[in-house]
Amino acid sequence: MDRLAVIGAGIMGTRIVRHFLNAGWQVALVDPSAEARDAARAVLGDAACLVVEVGDLGPDWDATRLVIEAVPELLDLKRRVLADLEARFAPQTILASNTSGLASADLTRDLRHPDRFVIAHFFNPADLVPAVELVPGPATRAEVMRDTADLLARSGKMPAVLKADVPGFIANRLQHALMRECFHLIDQGVADAETIDLVTRWSVGVRLALTGPMLQRDLNGLDTHLRIAEYLYPDLDARQTPPDLLARKVAAGELGRKSGRGFYDWDAARQAQAAATERMLPEVIRLARAADSTEDN
Ligand code: NAD
Repeated sequence: MDRLAVIGAGIMGTRIVRHFLNAGWQVALVDPSAEARDAARAVLGDAACLVVEVGDLGPDWDATRLVIEAVPELLDLKRRVLADLEARFAPQTILASNTSGLASADLTRDLRHPDRFVIAHFFNPADLVPAVELVPGPATRAEVMRDTADLLARSGKMPAVLKADVPGFIANRLQHALMRECFHLIDQGVADAETIDLVTRWSVGVRLALTGPMLQRDLNGLDTHLRIAEYLYPDLDARQTPPDLLARKVAAGELGRKSGRGFYDWDAARQAQAAATERMLPEVIRLARAADSTEDN
């Protein structure tokens, strides 16, 4: 049976573990915080997962196939943890980082064998969202990329192999390009948050899970896209710093769901709706997979 160790029992680590447990892997989850370990045990329930303190992994875990670090997004901490992992695990163990966007060149600076390092960027909730961005570091061996992609695919994930490391990889670049324009539209008084959500969900949103933007362009016609791009691009927001509106919201403590207010009020009804929406995610994923199998037929 394949073995996996996840380092950091937070939001991401715990749900990454749940995915691999569901796929039948033998999994260890490591965290120095007793509170985090207890919270992870509560989420994972009776699932057969070893949840331990750092340093408590026995020698039978030496030859673990894959180790994924999911500790907080702090460069120095991640570098220290990765160097410890390199010393702890056998040379054939693949060392993966779930960083949201720290550069692989920075993350691997203290490694003696950076050829076995790869960024494996999971999405929240990691047990449900199929895609994982796989990003090579400057020294990553092609074989490590291929093996990581293979084992992720075998576990039921959809690995997306990037050819190079760029800030934000693919998904965060697209998400932030979209959000920059959303903030701009609000700032210009064109629409409020509710209207932007309505148009996004009920126009491009309903199609995106089934086709993706590039396929969608083929459907619409690239000549039409070019004509629109010629007059539209000069008018799109191209600012190089975060939007003022975003900074103002954060300064006012309006952080969204976690603080009770963001663009919406997070009362009990909205909290319940958000939880219900997450429960619907598997159904959306099932339909998107069905769309892919239609394509094969
Ligand atoms: P989190 O704060 O919820 O969890 C981090 C965990 O790491 C904590 O439980 C902490 O106790 C533990 N930790 C700290 N030092 C440690 C050490 N030395 N060894 C082992 N564990 C240690 O953070 P998160 O949201 O799960 O994010 C983890 C990583 O995943 C970050 O790099 C983040 O950028 C990335 N990420 C997060 C999301 C998201 O939506 N939250 C999505 C994709 C990627």
